[in-house]
Amino acid sequence: MFKSKAYSAASATLPLASTSIPRRNPTDRDVQIEILFCGICHSDLSQVRNEWKDIMPTIYPIVPGHEIVGRVAEVGRAVTKYQPGDLVAVGCLVDSDHTCPQCKANLENLCPNMTLTFNSPDKHGTAPVTYGGYSDSIVVDEHFVLRVPTNLDLAGAAPLLCAGITSYSPLRRWGVDEGRKVGIVGLGGLGHMGVKFAHAFGAHTVVFTRSERKMEDALRLGADEVVVSRNADEMQKHAGTFDVILDTVSAQHDLDAYVNQLAPDGTLTLVGATEKPTPVSTFGLLMGRRNLAGSLIGGIAETQEMLDFCGKHNITADVEVIPIQKVNEAYDRLAKSDVKYRFCIDMASLESE
Ligand code: NAP
Ligand code: ZN
Repeated sequence: MFKSKAYSAASATLPLASTSIPRRNPTDRDVQIEILFCGICHSDLSQVRNEWKDIMPTIYPIVPGHEIVGRVAEVGRAVTKYQPGDLVAVGCLVDSDHTCPQCKANLENLCPNMTLTFNSPDKHGTAPVTYGGYSDSIVVDEHFVLRVPTNLDLAGAAPLLCAGITSYSPLRRWGVDEGRKVGIVGLGGLGHMGVKFAHAFGAHTVVFTRSERKMEDALRLGADEVVVSRNADEMQKHAGTFDVILDTVSAQHDLDAYVNQLAPDGTLTLVGATEKPTPVSTFGLLMGRRNLAGSLIGGIAETQEMLDFCGKHNITADVEVIPIQKVNEAYDRLAKSDVKYRFCIDMASLESE
């Protein structure tokens, strides 16, 4: 084992602070990565503050971070895909059972025994739970390591590992392409990537936001139209017309308002992880034979496909790059939806700790 610098939270109410954590020495199949950038996902905030306690309680101390980009420092003897110096990435998953039907279908994200990058039991026994990317290094099985296209800005590429794949995968699954009308609800980290992908796939893209201040940005990011969701007339104008709506909202809200925006056979796919159950009117779904769906990140092969697509189309997240010492301030701003449109930690700032 060796020690890594990191930031962790000791409880739901304490701020994140500098610490030192153990990492395992690379086994034959492992890649040791020097972390350069790590994005800040709303899931980091929700888990640090133990907001999902009824579903996946947080084990403290927690080291969050699952939007990791870095450089390979060392590889185990059996590693074939990577060598020291390569630009690589790690997302939300670091292991799965490799034997279930989902793993066999390249859907490790749906494996019942997957290991999340942080706050999952650590199968290697290095620590009670896995520790994430707010750290200067990480050791990961090569199967869960992704290759970063070398033309991409690295800070902007880090959020692709969660915000990117979580919006790309359901848009692909529900057949978003040219001629389709697609709604993106919530212009945050996931939402702004959803806009970029829907636009790149050729769909007519409409953003739903609570905030008039975000209208200009939504158009710049690729939206064809913007609806301020508080405005009932604007909502009514689009009722019954969408093929697909991707809902990225991180808090409880009225789902029927978006079910009613769907055309017959249209699909509302949820990715926002809200703490409490949300009621839905069955009639809204019955009328028009509409679908209500969920989606969780994406498999490893699809994550690489998404990264390659981003390389080809030069797509990255719009990031506010911060030193790790500003992470608590960034969390407070993220809780208020005040970020354009993803915070990303420059890990070189850990050196001074
Ligand atoms: P984010 O950057 O905070 O964006 C969420 C957006 O939702 C906000 O910018 C805001 O957009 C809107 N919003 C927030 N509170 C709202 C409310 N009370 N009512 C209506 N709209 C509200 O968060 P994120 O990182 O994109 O993550 C979004 C959600 O997805 C989180 O719950 C996160 O945990 C979850 N997540 C899920 C997966 C998955 O695999 N399914 C993966 C990653 C994250 P406007 O200001 O434009 O209204
Ligand atoms: Zn995330």
